[in-house]
Amino acid sequence: MTDRILIAGSGQAGFQTAASLRQDGFEGEIVIVGEEPGLPYQRPPLSKTYLKEANADRLFFRNADFFEKNRIDLEDGRTVTSIDRAQRTATISDGRTIAYGHLVLATGTRNRRLPLPGVDLGNVLGLRSLADAEILREKLASASRLVVVGGGFIGLEVAATARAAGLHVTVLEATARLMSRVVSPPISDYFLSFHSSSGVDVRLNSLARAILDDGTGKAAGVELGDGERVPADLVLVSAGVVPNAEIAEAAGLYVHDGIRVDDMLATEDPAISAIGDCASFPFGQDGLQIRLESVQNAVDQAKCLSRRLVGHPERYDKLPWFWSDQGPHKLQIAGLTAGADHHEIRGGLDDGKLSVQCFRRGELIGVETVNVAGDHMAARRLLAQPAPLSLETVQAHGFDLAALMKANAARG
Ligand SMILES: Cc1cc2nc3c(=O)[nH]c(=O)nc-3n(C[C@H](O)[C@H](O)[C@H](O)COP(=O)(O)OP(=O)(O)OC[C@H]3O[C@@H](n4cnc5c(N)ncnc54)[C@H](O)[C@@H]3O)c2cc1C
Repeated sequence: MTDRILIAGSGQAGFQTAASLRQDGFEGEIVIVGEEPGLPYQRPPLSKTYLKEANADRLFFRNADFFEKNRIDLEDGRTVTSIDRAQRTATISDGRTIAYGHLVLATGTRNRRLPLPGVDLGNVLGLRSLADAEILREKLASASRLVVVGGGFIGLEVAATARAAGLHVTVLEATARLMSRVVSPPISDYFLSFHSSSGVDVRLNSLARAILDDGTGKAAGVELGDGERVPADLVLVSAGVVPNAEIAEAAGLYVHDGIRVDDMLATEDPAISAIGDCASFPFGQDGLQIRLESVQNAVDQAKCLSRRLVGHPERYDKLPWFWSDQGPHKLQIAGLTAGADHHEIRGGLDDGKLSVQCFRRGELIGVETVNVAGDHMAARRLLAQPAPLSLETVQAHGFDLAALMKANAARG
């Protein structure tokens, strides 16, 4: 019986698990098997500063020395291909079998492949990895017309950068508003105004029907549902992701929009946990299973799991938070705001800032801000408290979250 902890996936969650295990005093073997070649790196800059500055060195969490000093065996450029739960072994793509005492599935997600004619043409790209970002950066330098399929965070971040670099940019969003799955309507409106006023051609309710061939196997444009053709010499498809859960499913673990775990991040097999983008975990008082795609979630779940593996189990109940940089605007979200039935709004694009407090059934469930870091930090502190804040309490403080936080702190 081995005490080896095997981690599948060398992304944000996989790396953090290994680092936290050493910080928490775990003395056994740690092996990370990661599909991507090279050192683990952070993804958020890939759609932001990296496209402008190509600062690859600054993406890595730690250099090679860190792994050596901390006795973390990084097996990069390989995948875990199957799991034998009875034997507690995993098969690796290089043919080896590795025994584990505990297996951590931190396999993340991959870009959703749209079933569109022409999606395999040259100059049709996706953005998930450093390798993808290198290609995108290179192509952006010579392209003149970019069409982004999908008006979510990543597509809009790239759209803003490309527009600032002088490209003609069109964003096609299938729903009635931008980032509709994750932000409130006032935030969607703010960013619609920003991108439109920057010269990005944003098309809402707009479905891509096909990507057109220029006759040489490269994209010439995108055909819309109504037959209109939008010309392009570069197409970015950014239409969501699917969790990498196949190895878990093949091993008989329950998978439904991610690998299902309990509030300790354990699967139904006590020797296997799942964390980060690939995991579906219970959230809030109703215990609804959700899956999040954020750095906060990957890092906090890795830390929580590490504590359990060194003998200090605790429930995972961290407040979700997120950010997105689009042009000069910093969007920050504290809490989960989908399902809000009441919004309190302050500011707008003319003020260059916006705060949206989101309530459901009279309780504050989240706060979305643009360029108001103070409100975001206050919201994170307030929302992390066990007792929910009522609309009346927030109203009593004139919706000033910073004042509310001070009042709470004074009360002890
Ligand atoms: C362009 C971009 C911008 C982003 N911007 C933000 C942002 O601004 N803010 C924010 O909070 N979040 C952002 N995110 C999301 C954030 O990066 C992810 O939530 C985070 O990386 C999740 O970490 P993870 O370890 O769960 O998955 P990942 O970081 O995706 O890592 C999973 C790794 O596992 C590997 N893998 C898959 N299957 C196997 C296997 N069978 N064996 C071995 N390895 C395997 C994958 O190749 C990958 O390297 C962004 C993501 C992208 C792509």
